[in-house]
Order: sequence, then C-alpha cells, then structure tokens
Amino acid sequence: MSDHSNGRPERSERRKPTDSAEEAAPGVLRIMLPIELPGLGHVNCYAMEDDRGIALIDPGLADGVTHGVLAERLSDVGLDISRVHTAVATHSHFDHYGGIARLRAMDTGNPVAVYGHRTFGDGWRAAYDTLLESEDSSTLETRTDAEVHEHLLTVMSSLRRTTPWGTETESFPKEMLRLWSDGISPVDILRPPELTHTLDDGEVIALGGRPWEALHTPGHADDHVCLWNAEGGILFGGDHMLPTITPHISGFSGYEDPLGEFFRSLERIAELDGATIVLPAHGDPFTDVRDRALAIHEHHVGRLDRLREIGTEIGDQPVEGYMQLLFRERSWGTMAASETYAHLEWLRLHGDADRSEQNGAPSYRID
Ligand SMILES: [Zn+2]
Ligand SMILES: [Zn+2]
Repeated sequence: MSDHSNGRPERSERRKPTDSAEEAAPGVLRIMLPIELPGLGHVNCYAMEDDRGIALIDPGLADGVTHGVLAERLSDVGLDISRVHTAVATHSHFDHYGGIARLRAMDTGNPVAVYGHRTFGDGWRAAYDTLLESEDSSTLETRTDAEVHEHLLTVMSSLRRTTPWGTETESFPKEMLRLWSDGISPVDILRPPELTHTLDDGEVIALGGRPWEALHTPGHADDHVCLWNAEGGILFGGDHMLPTITPHISGFSGYEDPLGEFFRSLERIAELDGATIVLPAHGDPFTDVRDRALAIHEHHVGRLDRLREIGTEIGDQPVEGYMQLLFRERSWGTMAASETYAHLEWLRLHGDADRSEQNGAPSYRID
C-alpha cells in the first residue's frame, strides 16, 4: 500500500474495529474484523441475509479470534453464524479468505459454499500443493497430532517463490501462523480454499435476495472481483477501491501489464452508470465513486512520472534500485518491489524504458 490521502482528514483503513455492526447500505451489514497489517487496522466483512440464511463477503483472517468476533457481531443483530450458507472472497489475499476455513469447519450439516473468481488463488495453491507433495508423508505416520501440526507450521512458513524481477518472496512468519492455527490445520490458514463456485466476469449471482454482477478487476490481484448491484448502485470494492489508501499493484502477476490491467479495471468502475456507494474491504464506505477511481489513477500517473525522473538519475538499474528511490525505506521489501516492477513494465510496454537481463534479473534503463 502506498500513502495517498487526497486531502482526506484521516485514514479510516487504519482504525481498530468498532464493537458493533452497522448497516452500510440497505440490507448490507458491515462487520469490522481485527487484522494488524501495515497501514490496516481491520478488514470489512459484509453480511446479507436472505430466506436461506446469510451470505458473507471477505470473512477475514483464519484465526479463532476473528471467527469469534464475526459470530458475536452477527449474534448482536440476531443472526446465528451457523446460518452462513455462502462466503465470497473478492481476491486471494489471506486477510480476505482465511476465515472461510473456519466457516467450512463448522459442523452444520450444510457446508458453506465458496465463491471467487475462476482463477482464484491458482498460483499460490499450486505452489503450496507442490511443496506439500514433496514432503515425505511416511515420516509423519508415527507422529502425534501436535507433532504433525508443528511440522506443517514449518512447511507452510517455508514457502518462497521466485518473482519475475529475480528475487524471492519473503517466507511467512511461523509464529504468526502458530498464533492463527489454533484448532485448525496450518495448511488452511494460507492455502487458498477450493471454490465450490467459480465466478466469470459478467456473471450474476444472488446474495441477500438481490442480483450482483461479478466484475473481474485485475491489478491489485489477478483474480480480483468486485460485485455490482445496479439497481441499488452498490459496489463491493474489495481491495480494488479503497477510500484513502491507493491499493497495492501486484507485479507478481500472470498479466504482461498488471498496471495497465489495473487502469482498465479503474476505468470500468468510473464508468459504472448510477454507482452511489463503494463498500471497500478496508476503511469506510464512500460515495464519490468516479472521483476516487480517477484520483487513484492520477496517483499512478504521478508515480510513472517519478520513475522517469529517477531513471535519468540512476541509469541502468535492477528493480531494487528504482524501488529504493520510489519508496521510503520503511516500505522496502517484496510489496514495494512488486509495485515498482509493475510500473517499470508499464513504461517498457509504452516505449519509455528498455529492459535487459543481468544475472538472471531484469534491469531497466529510462532516458
Ligand atoms: Zn488484497
Ligand atoms: Zn486487503
């Protein structure tokens, strides 16, 4: 995430969860669930009731505390968590889909249906599966459940993937996994869940007794979807549209031009006819839908300009070299490099940068 407030007074994405649910739009309940990630104090889970029970959008992290808070907030308004029949994940980031594992583990006789984009979590699921398959399971047969749990914590926290800019992703902190995996397999905390229903762009599903159109909006993540109810002018924005923070752009992507995809995804939102409110995954709902989409676009145009300036100063450099000048030191790391790479690739694809390979990593020259 990069900071960009557009003059808004406070960053609502940072706030700690309130201890009551609120109606964010007619028939849509906003439940703030606890997370502590850089710049983020909560994740919004949205709940809608219909005659079959409850549908949830983005049920938060997989830890037991989150599940308990979710159950409590629902119960405050007379809803029982055992009545959840559907969970939608807007995209495959663990603070959005983790809670699905706990919901699926509930013994209600009616397993929760899981919705996400057709490509939901494919890359990470395959990487975890390859890692798990490479484990010699015969050595686990004689171990106790606690030993197996401990072993899986080590395995799941060891995964590192090679990025397109030639580095490796950071492994997941084992102690955090331990904290979150009380009573649940460490595998389910991080491995994106299997979908029971895959969404295609333009597909319409019923949630809370209303039709919602899935809008595939790659950029923040390849598999990101927003859900759009035209009649009410309501958009579930996920991490594609946040109120004061500009969403992170993932360069770790199957798309040739992830930033270009993000621009197209913003344009789609700006062009929605009759959009009155965005219900984001972090921060307060907002109503200046088109202006916000344009402001986020402008931010990235400014970042591209900054890279052009940096390029004339530093000459031929790997992604890291650009990242260190584009981001403040406290932000350096995989996410900053990922976003820098997406911007450098945009410049290359638009004829403003040349790329060469040096020691197996791309290097860029802008002049
Ligand atoms: Zn995300
Ligand atoms: Zn998020």
